[in-house]
Amino acid sequence: MLVRRSRKQRTAVPASFCEYVATDDFVISRRPTYIDRSRNLLRTDIGDHAFIPDSIQRLLDAGLLTPEDIRNSWFSWTRRDNLRRLGFCSTLFRVVGISSALDSPEVPDSIRDYVVYHECLHLRQGYRPGGRIHDAEFRRWERSYPGWKECENALRTLHRRTGS
Ligand SMILES: [Zn+2]
Repeated sequence: MLVRRSRKQRTAVPASFCEYVATDDFVISRRPTYIDRSRNLLRTDIGDHAFIPDSIQRLLDAGLLTPEDIRNSWFSWTRRDNLRRLGFCSTLFRVVGISSALDSPEVPDSIRDYVVYHECLHLRQGYRPGGRIHDAEFRRWERSYPGWKECENALRTLHRRTGS
C-alpha cells in the first residue's frame, strides 16, 4: 500500500539508515553493482584530452577541496557527450560522472574544473535523502570558485550549442 507522505515527512528516513549507508563498507561493497548497471559511465577518469584527477589535484592545490571531501570516491567520464548534463553525482555510492563533452581541447581547464568542483561539493554534502541539494550553503561553496560567474556564462553558451 502506498502511503502519501507529507512534505514534512519527506526527510523521514531513519537516521540509522543514513549512518549505515554513509559507511565506507557500505559504499565499497555496493558501488561495483551501481557502476555495472550504469550504462553511461566509461569507467575511466582518463579522457582523450583531459584527466579528471588533474582537475581534482588543481582543486585541492587551490584549497577549494579537501581530501575529506573526495574520500572513498570514484570518478569517470561518461559515454555520452551530453552538453545539457555536464556532470552528475551519486552521493549514496560516491560516484561522479563528468560528461565527455568536457573532454575536449576547446574546453579550458577552469571550466572543466568548475564542473568537477560542483560535483565534488555534492560529495562533501553526502547522502541527504529528501533534502534540498542546491541550498544556500551549496551556492556559497560554489561561489568561492574564482571566476564562477564567467564559468556559469561559458556553460550556458555550451548548452546553447545543442540548439535546443
Ligand atoms: Zn548539482
